[in-house]
Order: sequence, then C-alpha cells, then structure tokens
Amino acid sequence: MKYFIYCRKSTEGEERQALSLPAQVRELQEYAKSNNLEVVKTYSEAKSGKTPNKREQFNEMIERIKKGDADAILCWHTSRLSRNPLESGIIQQMITDEELLEIRTPIDLISSFNANDILLGVQFGNNSQYSKDLSRNTKRGIREKIYRGQYPSVAPAFYLNFGATKDDKNIIPDPKNFKFYEKLVDEVISKKLSLSECRQQLITWGVRNKKGGLFHKSAIAHILRNPCYYGLIRRTGYDEAMGKWQPLITKEKWLLLQSVLDGKSTPYYARVKHQFKGVMKCGRCGLSITAYTKVKKSGKKYIYYCCTKKKGDCGNSLTREEIIESQILKAIDSIAISKEFSVRLKKLTEEKLNAEHKHEIKTKENIELELKRHSAELDQLLQMRLSDEISKSEYLDNKGKINIKIENLEELRSDVKFSREDLRKKLELFFDTSFNIKKVFTNGSFEDKQKLLKAITEEILLDNGKISLNLKKPWDTMVLIKTAPNSTEMLRVKGSNLQPWS
Ligand SMILES: [Zn+2]
Repeated sequence: MKYFIYCRKSTEGEERQALSLPAQVRELQEYAKSNNLEVVKTYSEAKSGKTPNKREQFNEMIERIKKGDADAILCWHTSRLSRNPLESGIIQQMITDEELLEIRTPIDLISSFNANDILLGVQFGNNSQYSKDLSRNTKRGIREKIYRGQYPSVAPAFYLNFGATKDDKNIIPDPKNFKFYEKLVDEVISKKLSLSECRQQLITWGVRNKKGGLFHKSAIAHILRNPCYYGLIRRTGYDEAMGKWQPLITKEKWLLLQSVLDGKSTPYYARVKHQFKGVMKCGRCGLSITAYTKVKKSGKKYIYYCCTKKKGDCGNSLTREEIIESQILKAIDSIAISKEFSVRLKKLTEEKLNAEHKHEIKTKENIELELKRHSAELDQLLQMRLSDEISKSEYLDNKGKINIKIENLEELRSDVKFSREDLRKKLELFFDTSFNIKKVFTNGSFEDKQKLLKAITEEILLDNGKISLNLKKPWDTMVLIKTAPNSTEMLRVKGSNLQPWS
C-alpha cells in the first residue's frame, strides 16, 4: 500500500491548541518509518477544515488518490482530514468505492476492508459537528474567562465586545442603544407588555439588533430573562459568577422583572401546540413549514401544515397532520432498534474499536516511558546544578529544552486520550438513542419529539403531502444495517433469535 501523509492545522479558535504542523510531520514520518509504510508524498497546510474547497493541498491529494498515485492516507487524527460534511462525505465515498483503502492515524485505523460504517460515521460526525461542543480546550477557555469576570462569548444585545488583549477583553454598553434596555424593562414592569408589544415598542424607538434588523420575539424573551444585564454570568455547565462589566440595571429591578414575567408566563412561553412545527422545510422554496388548527362547524379540529410562502406562492399544498405523522413514523421505524439489538451492536462495535486501537495503547505506553525519562533527566540536571557541575545558564537552557519536550508529550497524550473518549461518548449516545427512538415517538412530549427529529435529521422536506427525510450520520447507516440480508445472522446471540425491529 502507498501512503500520502496529510498534516493540517489552522490558527483559528480551538484549533490553535492542536499539535503543531512540524510536530505532526515529524510524528507521522517517524510512525511511517517504524511501521514500514511506503510514503509517496507529505502534504502539509495551515488551513481550516471547516469550509469545503479551501485547501489546495487536500484537493491535490484527493485528485492523486483518484488517479491511483497512492491508496492510503496517514494523518494525526481524522479531524485533520476534514471538519465539514461535504469533504468528509467525499472521503467516505472513496472508502466505499475502494479508491481509498486505508486511513491510518497513530490512534485509529480505518480501512475499506474492515471499516465499520458506524464507527466511521460517528467519527466524521464528530469532526464536523461535535468537536466544538466537546472540546476540552474550548471549555477550559470559557471557564478561565468566567473566572476573570469576562463575558465568555459574543456580546449580548445592548452591549459591544471591547478590548484588545486576552486579559482586558470584555463587553461595554453599546453607546448607540444601551439606554433603551432599561426603558424596555420599565415598560414591561409598569405596563406588562407582551412580547409582540415589546417588539413594537423597540421598532417605535428605532432600536435595531446587531445585524441592523428587527428583534425577533424569541430574542426579546431571551434578553428579558438573561441575568447578564445586572452583571451575572450564567452558562449551562459552568458555575455562576459576577462579571466585571458595567451592568445596565440593578439586581433588584431584574428580579422584579422576572416576577412580572413569571406572572404572565403564557405569552412568554407559548406552548408548542403543533408537534411538527419548525422541523420541516418547504420542498419547493425552502422556507419553513408552519402549522395551524382549523375548527370545523362540527367542533372537530384539524391540523394543517403549509409553507409560509413569504417569497410568494410556491404552489405547495396544505397537508393534514396525520399524513405527515404516518410518514415520519415509518422513517423512525426504519432506524429504531430493540434494546437487545442495541446492546449486541454496541458490544460488536466496541470489540472492533478495541481491536483497531492497539496502536493507541502502544503510543500511550511510549509517551509514558518518554515522560518518565524526561522527568529523570530533570532530576539529574538539578543534582548537577546543586553540586556545581554545570553553570546556572547551562542549567536553565537544558531545563527549558526538556520542559518543551515534556509539554509536547503531554499534548500528545491528551490528544490520544481525548479522541478516544470523544468517540466512545458519541457511540454511547448513538446506541442509547437508537433503542429509545420509538419510545420517544409513542410517549414523548411534543418538545421531545421535535428535539429528537432535529438531532437525527439533516432536513425534512414537505412537498405536496410527501415527506423526504435526510438522516444525519450515522443514523443513515442504521437503515442499511437493518435491511442488510445478513444483519440478523451477524447479530444472532446463542439461543435467542434477535430481531432488530422487535
Ligand atoms: Zn414554499
């Protein structure tokens, strides 16, 4: 097999924390040498993998693989290859077509001969969607910002981001409109304005959102509930803390506002009445599908779904809810599996994962050995300095060099550990959800159903009563597994007759 080495690192966001380009090149070339891999060329580029068609080196490599110049890729982690669904898809297709026979990393091995489609799907799913949420580096960054009293993300309405250095970045009241925040709060408290009335009030005052548009009702609801306006940082998953920016109102007034809002909760939290509202798009013009209830003279209620037609009449017809529901249930049926099937599939995937991760264990052992060796060197160096065998500058110089090596190794170690745990978490979630899908759809609340649909689909289109539903990875794979002729055979447990759909 012939290999291309591919290294990538961008200077954006969380990627800054990834292993440096020279380190990737060095590690992979060493890996290739010690495993006797034939390397045709090493590609290396400082580009982001989030947007497709931005990487010349990557494109050249793909073209050359299609021509047959090489049939395998060696990279540090699959996230180096792609972080967007389009290019991940290209790679997956090449594996399926056996143009690409192997993607090797020091911590994973995926090949067309033994690729477990689920593993691959989860892995690439990770790269494009979940890496941001799960990144320990991002989490750590946010925690540090909160600790320093800085607003941890883009400034909320009525504030601006300000400051040049890491330490003095924060938010300041937006001179253009900050005074309207308290005015709005006063109106809500004294006149008990609804969200629509708040919106109208802001329009009357000429207050616009950051993009220069009108505020949505949902944005106003969020603004009125956000405690950051009296200085409190509240983020899910983090401890609350007081920020160091200038508040726009007092805590007392904010609490009063909350009790006013609580007293009239219905207009602020309009209950979801239509289970599929907001989850579908028009198959003709791409706009959202909305829903409404029609009450007939007999008193019987009918729920209809249709395109909002804001861009003009696209010709899409009204559809009754039952017609949509039966089609969605059918699609859900095609991926739902029984608990036993899920457990068995999970076990098989784990076994596969373990077998393919022998490299990882080996890499980890090597890293630990190296780390031990370096810490012994540090001890020895200190002894030499204490007994005056070396000068102070020699001591500091050597100590610095060793510390850099230790830092690099620790970075490597956490990369290895992280990618593994990340994948495990995703697999866990995937299998657990797979057998719960049916339950959510028969017993769940409307909100649960909507959440689930959004989690498993790329999009759901409605065109003249017909639903087309694009599943996200790796859910699409589940359909194939369930319909594969030998799937039950493969998963048969001794003594029991396991059916995926039971
Ligand atoms: Zn339409």
